[in-house]
Amino acid sequence: MSASVHTAPSPARLKDLIREVPDFPKPGINFYDITTLLKDKTGFRETVDALAEHYRNSGADIVVGIEARGYFFAPALALALGAGFVPVRKPRKLPHTVQSIEYELEYGTDQLEIHVDAIEPGQKVLIIDDVLATGGTASAVARLVEMIKGKVVGLGFVIELTFLNGRKKLEGRDVFTLLQY
Ligand code: AMP
Repeated sequence: MSASVHTAPSPARLKDLIREVPDFPKPGINFYDITTLLKDKTGFRETVDALAEHYRNSGADIVVGIEARGYFFAPALALALGAGFVPVRKPRKLPHTVQSIEYELEYGTDQLEIHVDAIEPGQKVLIIDDVLATGGTASAVARLVEMIKGKVVGLGFVIELTFLNGRKKLEGRDVFTLLQY
C-alpha cells in the first residue's frame, strides 16, 4: 500500500479535531487549540499533506516557522517539500547575529528575530503559522525575511479567523489557509 494517499482532507473532519476553548487566555478570546489535531495521527498527517499539496510547485527553498506554534507544522512541511527549516524566534533566544523586527500588538509592541545568515539572498521562503488572526505577526515576519533578502513566496496557516481581516495586513502577498472560521 502507498504510504501517502492524496485525498483532499475534509475541512469538517479536521475542524472536529480542533478544540475551541472559550475565554482563553483572557475573557472574550475563543482559543483554537491545535494540540488535539496534532495528537490525531490521521488529522496531523492530512494537515501536513494538504499544505504540502498546495505548495508542491512553489519552489520553496526554506520554510520559516513562527515561534511557537508554527514549529508544529513548518518542519514537517519542510521535510515534505525537500526544503530547509528556519525558526523565527522571540528576542534573545538565537545565539548568533540576528535581524530583529518590532511590530504593533493590540497593546504595546513585540519583537521577533531571525539569524542574519539563515536565508541566502533570493532564496524562496514560505512562512507558516497555526492561526492567521489579525495578521500582525505574519506581516512582521514577512518583512523580517525580506530584510535579510529572502523572497517570500507564500504565507500558509492551518486556521484563518476571517472576521479579524488578517489578509488585509498581507495584501499583495500569497496567502493560503486550510480552515476558515
Ligand atoms: P495575529 O493576530 O495574526 O498576529 O496572531 C498572533 C498569534 O496569536 C498567531 O501566531 C496565532 O497563532 C495566535 N492566535 C491569535 N488568535 C488566536 C486564537 N483565537 N486561537 C489560537 N491562536 C491565536
